Amino acid sequence: MQKILIANRGEIALRIMRSLKEMGIQTVAIYSEADRNSPHIQYADEAICVGPPASSESYLRGAYIIEQAKKLQVDGIHPGFGFLAENATFAQQVTAAGITFIGPDPYAIEVMGSKLAAKEAVATYNIPMVPGTDRALTDSEEAIAIAKTIGFPILIKASAGGGGKGMRIVEHEEELASQMQRAISEAQAAFGDGSVFIEKYIASPRHIEIQILADKHGNVVHLFERECSIQRRHQKVIEEAPSAVLTPELRAKMGQSAVDVAKACDYVGAGTVEFLIDDALNYYFLEMNTRLQVEHPVTEMITGIDLVKEQVKVARGETLSFKQDDLTINGHALELRVYAEDPANNFLPDIGNLQSYQRPQGPGIRVDDGFEEGMDIPIYYDPMIAKLVTYAATREEAIAKMLRAIEEYNITGIQTTLEFGRYVLEHEAFVSGKFDTHFVKKHFDPAQLYEENEEEATVAALVAAQYLQKLKMQNSSGNDNLFEKQRVSKWKLNRR
Ligand code: ADP
Repeated sequence: MQKILIANRGEIALRIMRSLKEMGIQTVAIYSEADRNSPHIQYADEAICVGPPASSESYLRGAYIIEQAKKLQVDGIHPGFGFLAENATFAQQVTAAGITFIGPDPYAIEVMGSKLAAKEAVATYNIPMVPGTDRALTDSEEAIAIAKTIGFPILIKASAGGGGKGMRIVEHEEELASQMQRAISEAQAAFGDGSVFIEKYIASPRHIEIQILADKHGNVVHLFERECSIQRRHQKVIEEAPSAVLTPELRAKMGQSAVDVAKACDYVGAGTVEFLIDDALNYYFLEMNTRLQVEHPVTEMITGIDLVKEQVKVARGETLSFKQDDLTINGHALELRVYAEDPANNFLPDIGNLQSYQRPQGPGIRVDDGFEEGMDIPIYYDPMIAKLVTYAATREEAIAKMLRAIEEYNITGIQTTLEFGRYVLEHEAFVSGKFDTHFVKKHFDPAQLYEENEEEATVAALVAAQYLQKLKMQNSSGNDNLFEKQRVSKWKLNRR
């Protein structure tokens, strides 16, 4: 492949282009009118505007994007994550246009895009499943009978659900019928598919997923696990690899199950098999994501493998250059998703202008981002600003590095998840490794962010007062080092 179009925007488009550049491949960026000033456009060899800001009129216009790719004689399309990444029709159309889709076959995307079809596909393998139904339910009497055998609480899930949406916890039998009707109509409205099913609600689960890589010649390996239990709204915020709780035996077993899931759908490329584990370390298959994940860098750090490059090599028909036994875990990596959200206000998006923006630096720190100082965070898309990744020899050192990175990361103009990250990383439950997907509900007290901020504000006010006092004295003595002091006090005042 000589030229690849990245059907995505911002940080992930940049991250993909960086690997392509190292491989000597030309890059084509696409952008919407809202992203005119995005750095991913500058970085690409060529760029085309695909429409107005709304994603349905730009980044989701599959047929138009393919048409443009053909005009520019592109020979590969990388979808990144989100947008068209898990759209089987798009993958099909790309291939039909004579362009290589950098991802799995449409069949695998389709099967794994439906939680029910996925369960069915892996049924012949010996993969542990969350107790529940393996088909769509419409009759609430039947649902109640099944729920009673599983035991309350149960979870109603939309088969076509994703991104943490389409789930309802039901604690008592009396609520089930009404919750189910609501879940069906919501699923129909949100995903165009009203199929819902029931799963046992695992009380204290950890979300552990396994990265897999498969070539077109039947070779499938796993690249160990990622711990993704720190979530809000069932969506990940902090990830790490390896997990603090997996034994080598459990890792090997889950790895094998993940490889089996990939084989069950003839998977090709990079994919992720998600599991829940309960407090007795039993694991259950949740779903497979047929794309690169946001949290892929932590795996790259501990294995030394560039997953984007592997995706391209596999798409070119190359055989994987390593076997399972060649892969080892080296060190520990953490990722904090820096979102434009206010953790003290229920993690609601806090869209606005990046008035100041300075990245942390130094050994073991990786920042994948797609913005520059002064830019606006558009309201039209996912509000992630950056993936902040740290890598060190041990978990303790990776945590210390992340805390330093958060300290150095200077973002003003909007609220972000940086302070939340600090809260988590300093929390005893996280440090000891004893946490589950309910960390936020159990341990996060937004008031404490405010308390700390108030303290900081008081300190900052005192510093400012002292500074003014000094300034007056310096002005009278003619000696001054204004720039340095201004920077320090501004930084302190702006951190909230
Ligand atoms: P999505 O496709 O929307 O991401 P998933 O099935 O991957 O949905 O689940 C997302 C998150 O929801 C999990 O990481 C976990 O926190 C929670 N979850 C899902 N299924 C269960 C379950 N059966 N019991 C408890 N929590 C669950």
